[in-house]
Amino acid sequence: MSASPRLRPVPRPGVLAIDLYVPGKSGAPGHAKIHKLSSNETPLGPSPAAVAAMQAATAKLEVYPDGTSALLRNAIAARHDIDASRVVCGAGSDELLSLLAYAYVGPGDEGVFCEHGFLVYRIAILAAGGTAVVVPERDLTADVDAILAAVTPRTKIVYVANPNNPTGTYLPLAEVRRLHAGLPGDVLLVLDGAYAEYVQADDYSAGFELARDADNVVMTRTFSKIHGLAALRIGWMVGPAHVMEAVNRIRGPFNLSTAGMAAGAAALADEAHAAAAAAHNAEWLPRMVEGARALGLTVTPSVANFMLVHFPDAPGRSAAEADAFLTAHGVIVRRVTAYGLPNALRVTIGGAESNEAFLAALGAFMRGDHA
Ligand SMILES: *Cc1c(COP(=O)(O)O)cnc(C)c1O
Repeated sequence: MSASPRLRPVPRPGVLAIDLYVPGKSGAPGHAKIHKLSSNETPLGPSPAAVAAMQAATAKLEVYPDGTSALLRNAIAARHDIDASRVVCGAGSDELLSLLAYAYVGPGDEGVFCEHGFLVYRIAILAAGGTAVVVPERDLTADVDAILAAVTPRTKIVYVANPNNPTGTYLPLAEVRRLHAGLPGDVLLVLDGAYAEYVQADDYSAGFELARDADNVVMTRTFSKIHGLAALRIGWMVGPAHVMEAVNRIRGPFNLSTAGMAAGAAALADEAHAAAAAAHNAEWLPRMVEGARALGLTVTPSVANFMLVHFPDAPGRSAAEADAFLTAHGVIVRRVTAYGLPNALRVTIGGAESNEAFLAALGAFMRGDHA
């Protein structure tokens, strides 16, 4: 036997230092009926037209999809009055967030995101070989001055979810413009509008104007949230032609499925379905917030389809115990310790029955019915 150590492939430096993304729980053992309020999915499900379009696409599964996603890009361009040549689609917006890092960030470069920002940004920056720079927030909201103060000559990309997940807070357009105005022209600003369709605030904009006019702003969007197509993995972005060209060179040539493209285009056409989902949220978000507040809990003001509920760091009342209690009652919510929020739970606004089940179980927990 040879004494020399056996060789095996070793990932690039840093790869194994990346923490695995842990999705929200999806089940509660022993419960016939569960209420899944852990992944910001829409309680209305997808448009029936999107389901039909997807099913129709199964007729020719042996044929490669259109690698340019023309059907979907044209539908997006028409719906939002933008230039289709400046739209790139991805396997979920997660893929696009990563592709932007791969294209613009390398070893020695820095990528910036906020303290309680979406964890995919960190993974994307680290996977590209870059250094993650985490910026403090103010009142659980992105802080433009703090972001600008974190920018160095090595900064290549800044990610801001607007509204942010898991806090549900947002930056008004004036603040986004101030952020953009303060960034050097060679820093790419990525505005992640995964929840844009839910926002009703007058001073909010997802970022179409900046993505059209600026040389360094991209807006990413998704079909996973209000359109209810998370299982199909469909995202898109709009931005300057030179950024779209760079990403087109490194993306997989067939990164969307035919079924996904067809379903996405049909979902966009069904404006009434998305409007119903937004209306349902507008009705239930305040009821859920007020319901939790009435039990003595603090809830961060949210403009999205979820809310962040803060628990006292006290035995019998903690977020961890509330999570266990809710799970035992068939209500699945999201712990957000990995987002630096160990004393909070993120709760998706669900259907009426699930929302009532959540509020009832939360009330029982706060009354100490489990003691
Ligand atoms: C859910 C979510 C996305 C969407 O991811 P997909 O890959 O499109 O499903 C993007 N950004 C944020 C902040 C999210 O919460």
